Amino acid sequence: MKTKPNAAASPDCLFCKIVDGTIPASRVYEDELSIGFPDINPQAPTHLLIIPKQHIASTAKALAEDTALMGHLMAAAAEIARKESLDDGYRIVVNTGDDGGQTVHHLHLHLLGGRHMKWPPG
Ligand code: AMP
Ligand code: ZN
Repeated sequence: MKTKPNAAASPDCLFCKIVDGTIPASRVYEDELSIGFPDINPQAPTHLLIIPKQHIASTAKALAEDTALMGHLMAAAAEIARKESLDDGYRIVVNTGDDGGQTVHHLHLHLLGGRHMKWPPG
């Protein structure tokens, strides 16, 4: 893992702008460290994004000091899934880098549910 601290916010980052309110999003979840909001291009009946308020570009850029925050995001996703009544299951996806299909370079968890998911993913 890298040791250089991550910036608090990145000026050209779409999701930092959602965190600071410059770009609107309907917050279905918020705590001191993270927010959850609907994906603008949903791939399932429930498709939410959970992001840290702090700018971290991806799991590949996460620092040792971000470990607890990454766990927090997973726990937040599970809590949201319970609130959304995804009782039959769901999928959490974290795309990372070009091969991972990451298009927004601010770490985010996709929470997908409400339909049966296939494996392997495309
Ligand atoms: P990824 O491809 O894993 O980086 O995911 C980025 C996701 O952000 C995509 O699923 C987009 O549909 C979603 N997205 C892009 N812009 C917005 C926005 N303004 N509000 C909500 N979701 C967005
Ligand atoms: Zn950001």
